[in-house]
Amino acid sequence: MIPAIRGTHDILPGEIERWQQAEQVVRDICGRYGYREIRTPVIEREELFAKGTGETTDIVQKEMYAFQDKGGERVTLRPEATPSMVRAFVEHALEQHLPTVKIFSLGPMFRYERPQKGRYRQFHQLDVEVFGVSDAALDAEVIEMAAALVEALGIEDAEVVVNSVGCAECRPAFGRALVTALGDREADLCGDCRRRAAVNPLRIFDCKVPSCQPIVDALPHATDYLCDACRSHFDATTGLLEALGVAFRVSHRLVRGLDYYTRTTFEILGGRLGAQNALLGGGRYDGLVRRLGGPDRAGIGFAAGMERLVLAMPDGSGPRAPDAFIVALGDAARQPAHLLARDLRRAALTALIDYGDRSMKAQLRRANRTSARHVLILGDDELAQGHVTVKDMTSGGETRVGRDDVVRNLAGDLLPASPEQPARMRRPIGRDDGD
Ligand code: AMP
Repeated sequence: MIPAIRGTHDILPGEIERWQQAEQVVRDICGRYGYREIRTPVIEREELFAKGTGETTDIVQKEMYAFQDKGGERVTLRPEATPSMVRAFVEHALEQHLPTVKIFSLGPMFRYERPQKGRYRQFHQLDVEVFGVSDAALDAEVIEMAAALVEALGIEDAEVVVNSVGCAECRPAFGRALVTALGDREADLCGDCRRRAAVNPLRIFDCKVPSCQPIVDALPHATDYLCDACRSHFDATTGLLEALGVAFRVSHRLVRGLDYYTRTTFEILGGRLGAQNALLGGGRYDGLVRRLGGPDRAGIGFAAGMERLVLAMPDGSGPRAPDAFIVALGDAARQPAHLLARDLRRAALTALIDYGDRSMKAQLRRANRTSARHVLILGDDELAQGHVTVKDMTSGGETRVGRDDVVRNLAGDLLPASPEQPARMRRPIGRDDGD
């Protein structure tokens, strides 16, 4: 056996239903807020992320699956979606085709990280981006939508955290204030942080090393160094969030591990997730489109970890029970049984059937294992009379139904009441009868 690569995982039947449900909720919520879906390649030029995500980030420095392809080009599996979304926005001049460029994407990302619960080397993200709008009303709407998504997935005790990291005008002063505040204590920081202090002091807030934490906690707050424009943007964002009824906390440590953020940054944390508790994170990135060779357009977005959303969702998203399991008794019944299965499937019902010539007992055992709602039995007797014996596995009731009526009945009509089974069978037994 050749096992899967460390940090990757299969999503198997039994679990996939939760993924499908999460993806359905994602598409529904994105649609309600006016987002259109796009899909970009998982492989891109390495420089897209060096320029986009940022040379000094951990992602670019340590975590990319980058290599030279057979044509000699430096390429990488994408570690995140935003630079690809920006590239697609520019490359296809999307603003000429969409009234407001609101786009979302679902797909796998790749980072060479240390795998643990909730952290993988191949993981999946929902990525949501808006281009060309600098109004703070959008910052609030994007955060409110992220909170609505988490709520629609049934995830409770989630916490919305926001901050502002300022802009190119005010951030340099904040960086200098960080270095000044560090003073002598810089020598007590870990090696990574000492390097960060020299090249990009803001990145010190990303540090997870325990001995750095008291030092990082005592550092100045970005929100105390905002220029007037960034200050009023932050106030407008938080003011509208309050008006929209979104509960949030302001955290000065929330600078996010990517270089492109300007002004608003935010995360939603899931209470029950343990160490890797960030369900999603994002923010505004007003200079990024131009940095990647596009027009000077504002941008804002977030990425949600699908593994973590699925992990945090409540139970109860199991597979839907099949509508029917068809039991064929004897050679003559086999072909009619397959025709019946075909007809049920054409009526959008789930119909399973056994293969090979197995005993009734063996077939019923398999039917039980599938948790089918109905077992349809076709034997010589049924064939002679043009009937099917329908066993309702919930009530235990059994009735004979004409071959031509069985599809319609299972598709939602009432089964005809037979004298022996009036009450139990007098109920809809279609796909959505909720039992
Ligand atoms: P980021 O792109 O780093 O801002 O991450 C956005 C979201 O993606 C996080 O809040 C996580 O939910 C998820 N995420 C990031 N890295 C991983 C990973 N290695 N494994 C699983 N989920 C991840």
